[in-house]
Amino acid sequence: MLRCPRRIEDGAHRDDSPFKFAGSDKDTYGASDDSCSYCGSLNPDTFMARLEAGTVKLCGTDKSYKVYVENDSGADFKQTYRTDDKPYQGHDNPTHDWVTRPMQQHKFYFQHLSVEQRKRFIELWNEKKIKFVEHGEFYVMPFFATRGKSA
Ligand SMILES: [Zn+2]
Repeated sequence: MLRCPRRIEDGAHRDDSPFKFAGSDKDTYGASDDSCSYCGSLNPDTFMARLEAGTVKLCGTDKSYKVYVENDSGADFKQTYRTDDKPYQGHDNPTHDWVTRPMQQHKFYFQHLSVEQRKRFIELWNEKKIKFVEHGEFYVMPFFATRGKSA
């Protein structure tokens, strides 16, 4: 069972949260868009597989937990929207019609990585196997990363 780590940070797993609705505790990586049903993050397994395959470029943000992911000659990303054009929010009332669109850019929240995936991410980064868009290198480090001492 998936429980989005960002839901826990928001306190939205608690029974008294205004963002909680019945059944909302069972987060999923949606079949339609492979994204977290709570926070909209790309599926971490997909994120890691695309990094390994070299079919994405990353763009750092001013947040230590967020990165943009650009398609680099791989499969399109998908995002599921409500048909009234508001972005998909897992805590929203789910009684709307939905539409799924292809996208070239997605977002990823590092909280979704397992400990093993964080280690592998750092390995890939140290080996310079992670591609960044121009000027997209991390200027705020991922929260689980530390700068090594130079020799
Ligand atoms: Zn999430």
